[in-house]
Amino acid sequence: IFHVILTSVQRRGQVDGYVAVVRDVTEQEKLEQARRDFVSNVSHELRTPLTTVKSYLEVMRDLGEDEAETKREFLEVIARETDRMVRLTRDLLLLSGLDRGGRRSEEMRPIPVAGLLEGVVERFQLQAAKQELSLRVHLPQERGVCVYGDEDMVNRVLDNLVSNALKYTPPGGRIDVRAEVHAHQVTLVVADTGIGIPAEDLPHVFERFYRVEKGRSRRGGGTGLGLALAREMVERMGGEIRMESELQRGTTVYVTLRRAEEDAA
Ligand code: ADP
Repeated sequence: IFHVILTSVQRRGQVDGYVAVVRDVTEQEKLEQARRDFVSNVSHELRTPLTTVKSYLEVMRDLGEDEAETKREFLEVIARETDRMVRLTRDLLLLSGLDRGGRRSEEMRPIPVAGLLEGVVERFQLQAAKQELSLRVHLPQERGVCVYGDEDMVNRVLDNLVSNALKYTPPGGRIDVRAEVHAHQVTLVVADTGIGIPAEDLPHVFERFYRVEKGRSRRGGGTGLGLALAREMVERMGGEIRMESELQRGTTVYVTLRRAEEDAA
């Protein structure tokens, strides 16, 4: 996108020539557009649950004394939608904290990989069992391997990836959490045997509010911000996140972080 400013140059009341100033505002315009899209997305995401809550409340007001069961069902919907708004605002606050730079970087330190992997699997074991999914951890052969990172952030990234794997893998499936250890880097891997992501959507899943299929993610309580947050955090730690996926076969996410000296842990 170019802005062109054209002015005539006059001499003694006569037009003597023209000067054109051409400015490339593509980047600036893109940023502006992204900001507008973001605000409109946030508004939409908040309005949807609010509208639901409001209409359920209105109907509830007119329910009779004998309709306790219906009332209970309605309250459940209201609670679910409220939870979604809480999650959404929490993710938005986290994102805006990262956008502003935050105070985070000084909390980088060596973290033992085994503990990270065992921790996330433990946190989700119960939920996995409930969904009839096998969630397994594979610890690196080499003992004492550490990554350099912010423990809180690494855990949040792993939680997000495993929670997505649980959300998008049908019962009977498998989720494997492991690490690939290299000389100077460690890649944390979360692999599932779920529904996968179409090739044309894959490059976009790390964008804010991008969803492969809107209905499905919303029903699952997704905010569409999880992967955007994960990428932001991984990049803040100087790492890299990427995803491979095959439709109906599964998805694998790789988070690569710098390897830390183990005796520093
Ligand atoms: P959401 O809150 O909607 O899950 P995310 O940012 O975490 O948002 O993910 C973006 C989209 O990427 C999701 O809507 C989903 O369609 C897709 N996705 C993420 N992880 C997986 C996965 N493990 N398997 C299949 N699809 C996934």
